[in-house]
Amino acid sequence: MVIDTLMVIGRGNPPWLPSFLSVVALCLSSICDCPQSRSDFHSWQTGMSSAGAFAFSSALPTPSLLDFTPLSGYNGGMNTSPRTEPGIGKGIDLHAHTTASDGSLSPAELVEKAHRLGLAALAVTDHDTLGGLAEAQSAAGRVGLDLVPGVELSVEDERGRFHLLGYGFDLENEALGRTLADLRRSRAARNARMGDRMAALGLPVTMDDVRAEAGEDAEVIARPHFARALMKHGVVASVAEAFDRYLSTGKPLYLPKEVLTPRDAIALLHGAGGVAVMAHPGLVLLDAPALADRVASLAQDAGLDGIEAYYSQHTLEDTDRFLFLAARLGLLVTGGSDFHGLAKPHVPLGVVFGGKPAPPALLDSLRARLASQNPILTPANRR
Ligand code: MN
Ligand code: MN
Ligand code: MN
Repeated sequence: MVIDTLMVIGRGNPPWLPSFLSVVALCLSSICDCPQSRSDFHSWQTGMSSAGAFAFSSALPTPSLLDFTPLSGYNGGMNTSPRTEPGIGKGIDLHAHTTASDGSLSPAELVEKAHRLGLAALAVTDHDTLGGLAEAQSAAGRVGLDLVPGVELSVEDERGRFHLLGYGFDLENEALGRTLADLRRSRAARNARMGDRMAALGLPVTMDDVRAEAGEDAEVIARPHFARALMKHGVVASVAEAFDRYLSTGKPLYLPKEVLTPRDAIALLHGAGGVAVMAHPGLVLLDAPALADRVASLAQDAGLDGIEAYYSQHTLEDTDRFLFLAARLGLLVTGGSDFHGLAKPHVPLGVVFGGKPAPPALLDSLRARLASQNPILTPANRR
């Protein structure tokens, strides 16, 4: 349709063109009858008024308005060196990991860092565990940071795999706790088999070495821990090389782990009073039309609530495309860095888009959605 044509044209050269077309397209989509996938009018409204409005006002203006330059701020989505901390400004980061999974900062350290950076809100989204959230929440209480409870799940069905972020759920929900424990058990079994493979390959790294990388507080041992252990023992020179040579899909140490289907994972998060958001859609291995189609059917059939349009490794073009997609489907927009500390030293906390954190308005929309689907469990009531 018209809008898709605009998207294609938007991939052309002049830097202002995608933004301009987004604005045109958002205008078009607001006067046409677009949000059919989720007929929930409220969600469409909040999607437009916050995510969409931000897209008009400040997310996608000309570079001069955003005040970034390719050298100091946004560099095409590929952050290649650690950046100095101060001065990233007010904003939020809805995607970060702690030592409870594969991050290198403890939950309290992460919260303190977010506070030092001046972030208004932070979501802790460890893989398969809520184990860092209690500590993060009490640290956030101490420093006065708005902490959003989160989790990151790997999901897969016949159409492929992606990561799902859950936000704002009830921390005490039994089904969620039980399912996460199952996932951790199956991950541990997978890790043990990876250890056997390392031995079979004659690599000088044991599971004790891997566990040492994860630290005592880790509820989850993940591939970055293997990567760091391989690096420490001189098998590879970097985490990236460890993934390239050993850990990525199809490589000698790669073993699939048991995961939920997107439908089950979304239902699980909804059942716990939370919302479900597709993480870093730009990293999903589908071309743009296939991904748009995938997101649309997840929204329609499985109840996907949103997509992480703002992400540290998205290009400006990716971001534009995902903001547009979210607006068209009436989905929430979230934004995060995917900060891991030492496990991904090139990804600084709070740097989400254009060298800056994500816009705070995104959290307002997210909370509005939470409140609309479960008034008893609104964040305000829980705090
Ligand atoms: Mn990770
Ligand atoms: Mn992820
Ligand atoms: Mn992550």
